[in-house]
Amino acid sequence: YELTHHDMRQVLNDTVMLLEAQASLHNTEIVVETDPAPLWTFGVGNQIKQVFINVIKNAIEAMEDGGKIVITSRLEDGNVVTRIIDQGPGIPKEQLAKMGQPFYTTKDRGTGLGLMVTFKIVDNHQGRIQAHSEMGEGATFVISFPYTTPPQ
Ligand code: ADP
Ligand code: MG
Repeated sequence: YELTHHDMRQVLNDTVMLLEAQASLHNTEIVVETDPAPLWTFGVGNQIKQVFINVIKNAIEAMEDGGKIVITSRLEDGNVVTRIIDQGPGIPKEQLAKMGQPFYTTKDRGTGLGLMVTFKIVDNHQGRIQAHSEMGEGATFVISFPYTTPPQ
């Protein structure tokens, strides 16, 4: 596992490129809006990417008839804060608490492991993840990692 600095703008663009085909099969458009300056984080690149793969995949799967996923990322109080906002059905309150528990899934062919892995990686990187949702108004996942500039 190589620990290095990563610019979140690059991480997000790489991840979205990876999921582009799946998104278009679901009639889903993904828009990324970031700060113009580098958004430095520190950690295991493939793991950080996996966090966003899992959350964006869930967003694609949540929007059965397609739609738009907006991803924003910016520096907020010493953290790189990324929001993944979908237009799916949202998450009922009683389900919010269960997400991330191993094998918790509402899908016919789900594993219920994606968010568990995601939570673990975020935690290992001293990050934070929260889900917000009102039924019928989509879901927003807020994921922050400490902002850490590379040595000069
Ligand atoms: P899986 O995708 O295999 O079901 P996950 O751990 O990735 O497992 O997600 C667990 C559950 O959380 C999903 O089955 C779904 O019910 C819920 N969920 C996750 N993301 C979203 C979302 N963006 N909108 C609605 N529900 C979601
Ligand atoms: Mg999943």
